[in-house]
Amino acid sequence: MKLYQLTIHEAQAKLRHGEITAVELTESVLERIDAVESRVGAYISLQPELALRMAQLADERRATGEDNPLLGIPLAIKDAIITQGVPTTAGSKILEGFTPPFDATTVRKLREAGAVFVGKTNTDEFTMGSSTEYSAYKITHNPWDTSRVPGGSSGGSAAAIAADEALGALGTDTGGSIRQPASFCSVVGLKPTYGRVSRYGAIAHGSSLDQIGPFGKDVEDVALLLGAIAGPDPLDATTLNAPVPNYAADIKKGDDLRGTRIGVPKEYFVEGMEPGVESAVRTAIDRLATLGAEIVEVSLPHTRYGIAAYYLISTAEASANLSRYDGVRFGLRREGDDMWSMFRETREAGFGPEVKRRIMLGTYALSAGYYDAYYLKAQQVRTLLRRDFEQAFEQVDVMVAGVSPGTPFKIGERANDPLQMYLSDVLTVTLNLAGACGVSVPGGFANDLPVGLQIIGPALGESAILRVAYQYEQATDWHKQKPQL
Ligand code: GLN
Repeated sequence: MKLYQLTIHEAQAKLRHGEITAVELTESVLERIDAVESRVGAYISLQPELALRMAQLADERRATGEDNPLLGIPLAIKDAIITQGVPTTAGSKILEGFTPPFDATTVRKLREAGAVFVGKTNTDEFTMGSSTEYSAYKITHNPWDTSRVPGGSSGGSAAAIAADEALGALGTDTGGSIRQPASFCSVVGLKPTYGRVSRYGAIAHGSSLDQIGPFGKDVEDVALLLGAIAGPDPLDATTLNAPVPNYAADIKKGDDLRGTRIGVPKEYFVEGMEPGVESAVRTAIDRLATLGAEIVEVSLPHTRYGIAAYYLISTAEASANLSRYDGVRFGLRREGDDMWSMFRETREAGFGPEVKRRIMLGTYALSAGYYDAYYLKAQQVRTLLRRDFEQAFEQVDVMVAGVSPGTPFKIGERANDPLQMYLSDVLTVTLNLAGACGVSVPGGFANDLPVGLQIIGPALGESAILRVAYQYEQATDWHKQKPQL
């Protein structure tokens, strides 16, 4: 077994016992990147020298007796999350050349925990997309089939984990951007409850929906990473003032799922779901039942309005958030005859077609005369969706469903069909609208392509969903299967 193949908890045991050093582990990951990155394309930028310096520092910290689950662990950070001194683009030409003078809170916490940063991963521009094809920089290939997309928008982070190009990663999820690529690449990815993790330094897409969350090779790694980044933050007033449990310990409580009530939302077997995906999800539900869980059918009756509400609210918020890219403060600037033409030229040159489409949709939804019909209506639907979830969680502890109605599609197949791309988010956007948490775990294969199982929890239900995910993982070996690259 090569060092780059280790999980975080396996590597940590070896580091602790002095069997390996953080420098050796990091070198192994860098060699792996050299060997496969030309076929995967997970990273927008790599910082190998910085990584080796951080690894050396971690080894020095360990030599002084320090111990920490992430000390010396090589991680990848989505390029939509701010890293001090390292270029951050959000997948957009408008931020080309921007090197932030500060860290996102999550990045600062990982740095303090002694993690090693290998590089910044590819993302759809400003995290708008479901395939990573809307990145202004490159195409990321799915390690399971390089003619297919890795999902998105955190496709780079998911592909990096699947290809063993990092031991763990951070992504962001506004409407599914952690869970859907995790599902497409057969890795674990968790979207925390809104407010569980600080958004400070996450480049804003839809501020009432965005959350940063972890990717890992297994559930325990994701629990460790979540524990390291969660918690209240004075720099993000929307963070929840709730103590951070020991997730990595909580997942191992109990030997099975007896006493756990798991809801299956009947609306989540949507029309158009691929039969192979549906049968994988149903098989997984049967497996949860054999572990002792009580399976209950539940209803989330407003599900079918989720996509419409999401694409009104997220574009409205995005149109406001993206107004700051004007050529004055960061990144690209194109001169014009006056200030207004400079703004126009800069935005025309710097934003790609999907971002422009969303700015127009959002501006329209917020404009006088249409506000009541679109934005306000969408907010009302959001309340109904939130109530759906509250009512379901009166009956059950967690819910399970698919993540995406389909398996990874071919590169190019949907890039020019935005509506088709939007519709594929049907099973994920509702959680962001409702403020719930969710994790995608490897749930099998359909036609040799990965299928994720989504485990959904109420606000601050991370321990509960991770525990179910862990029990399921122990009973299956999907997470142990690796792509042949
Ligand atoms: N695919 C969704 C979108 O394009 C979700 C993206 C995300 O979660 N960042 O908006």
